[in-house]
Amino acid sequence: MLNRVFLLLSTLLLSAFQLTAAPKPFVFNGQSVPAGRKLATLLHITDGRDSTVVPVTVFHGRRPGPVLGIIAGVHGYEYPPIMAAQQLSKEIDPEQLRGTVLLVHVANVPSFLGRRIQVNPQDNKNLNRVFPGKPDGTITERLAYRLGNDVIGRCTHVIDVHAGDALDDLRPYAGYYNYFDTPELSEKGCHMASVLGFPYVIQFGNEPSLKDQASVYCSREAIKRGIPAIDIECGRFGLPEPEHIAQIKQALQRLLGHLQMTESQPAVSIPPALITQRTTVNSTHTGFFFPLVKAGEFIYKGRQLGYITDLFGNHSADVLAPVNGVVLYMMATPPISKGESLFSIGHLPKAAQP
Ligand SMILES: [Zn+2]
Repeated sequence: MLNRVFLLLSTLLLSAFQLTAAPKPFVFNGQSVPAGRKLATLLHITDGRDSTVVPVTVFHGRRPGPVLGIIAGVHGYEYPPIMAAQQLSKEIDPEQLRGTVLLVHVANVPSFLGRRIQVNPQDNKNLNRVFPGKPDGTITERLAYRLGNDVIGRCTHVIDVHAGDALDDLRPYAGYYNYFDTPELSEKGCHMASVLGFPYVIQFGNEPSLKDQASVYCSREAIKRGIPAIDIECGRFGLPEPEHIAQIKQALQRLLGHLQMTESQPAVSIPPALITQRTTVNSTHTGFFFPLVKAGEFIYKGRQLGYITDLFGNHSADVLAPVNGVVLYMMATPPISKGESLFSIGHLPKAAQP
């Protein structure tokens, strides 16, 4: 009898221990982060001529759970994501966290410090066009390679956070990839994108497979590795507007709640409209662009969206809407070259049409 009681007690103790056992330390950038602690560290990257660093904070939770990669500043002129990530990093408490957060404060430091839109001034390459990168390429290709292997490849979930660049007006949205041969990844991405509180969720991809394509984009590098991943676009003109910073921070907090890494956040009251198709309007002329609508406006086919003049200011062409929909993002500053994108128009599902 005593033996049986002893056996029962030790089984109970063992399972209690297993339930509360702290996860093993998380090793990152050659450093060991114990459960319940955080580490701020710089990844150093060089190609022998140029060099850069990537500031990453690792939050290793007291309890086991997902590994979420939050990546800001892939485009260094897009400030709202960078500021939101910085604010969030002060609030994540590894003592209370389930799982691990790898927070990339600014992926593209040369672009950020150099105030350059879209590209890294060291090699004039767009970090969000070179994934999976190369271990022996230019500085931006090496940066992508390290982000892919040292950050994205360590994660169970990834979010890449962007905003409208200096020339873009933009309506906030979240996006996920939909490839027909990986329906589970698409479904997880759809759930992640839908809980963030943005009015629109865009479906990227919509193709049979990613297998024979390069990843190219940061978040798609995760998809290529079988890791669910989403994008945010929130903010405009690169401006660090408090409203957009707060919106991004809240979205990241909601994602942490959705993944049960923190206490869950209040659910979004209005479900987002799913946009599965977009139409791009390109400029037919070079010169000055004068928009007549703003991002977020609903437009109907045939409406005048703006006009273009030549370099003397003489009228060259009107820009008309080719479809009904919502302006997701648009060129909002005067310089325009023939062939450049002016508008991205999201086709709205019936229920979301005005
Ligand atoms: Zn961007």
